[in-house]
Amino acid sequence: MSTRAPLIAGNWKMHKTIAEAESFIQALLPRVSAADGVDVAICPPFTALAAMVDSARGSRVQVYAQNMHQLQDGAFTGEVSAAMLAELDVDGVILGHSERRELYGESDRALALKVTAALAAGLHPILCVGESESERERGDTERKLRHQIQEGLGKVPAEQLAEVAIAYEPIWAIGTGAVASPEQAQDAAAFIRALLAGRSAEQAERARVIYGGSVNAGNAAELLALPDVDGALVGGASLDPVQFAAIVAAAQ
Ligand code: PEP
Repeated sequence: MSTRAPLIAGNWKMHKTIAEAESFIQALLPRVSAADGVDVAICPPFTALAAMVDSARGSRVQVYAQNMHQLQDGAFTGEVSAAMLAELDVDGVILGHSERRELYGESDRALALKVTAALAAGLHPILCVGESESERERGDTERKLRHQIQEGLGKVPAEQLAEVAIAYEPIWAIGTGAVASPEQAQDAAAFIRALLAGRSAEQAERARVIYGGSVNAGNAAELLALPDVDGALVGGASLDPVQFAAIVAAAQ
């Protein structure tokens, strides 16, 4: 039996003003206050981070950013650094979401630096990996995952691997309603854990591998019961506090 606490993280993407985020958190907090043993995180846009840190203080809800730059400072218009997030008391950061990789050209090389910069600043990184539909159809899923894990975690010392949560997010399942089957999710999560075990069996046993891609209140329980799936990264269904709280309850 695994001792890994499940992590349920809601990725809001470019949704919610500060006022909307406030009404969300006020609705969420009472609904998750008894979710013992589950780590709950919301990932608001940068503009709502400080307000959410304040509103969630003292609760079980953690606040993660959706991205950050790999360097400490510099001429990078529109970017923020790990230290800037840590100063806000943000708990962690999503790195390498497929939307950032596809729409903004985020590279594995930059991600390797982002992961270590986040860890150095005391932030918990969630590193996203996953194959496209055509890669799956070609039988390239494991090759893609191996590449992204090796590159993204390449600069993390073996004894620190479990400090990074890995989100397996098949691109074809994100925002499409086409959730991975339990077998597909379990196979990929177990494969990722085996890759980690190649560097440290002990860290692989402790590391959290979570699933993302069209998770909702109706399918969460089946996915979260899988032996190698330690939580969920939730997009669309995390925008509604009732549905998000139901996913948290399914993790208990
Ligand atoms: C995501 O964007 O990380 C995600 C999993 O989105 P959705 O749940 O909407 O598929």
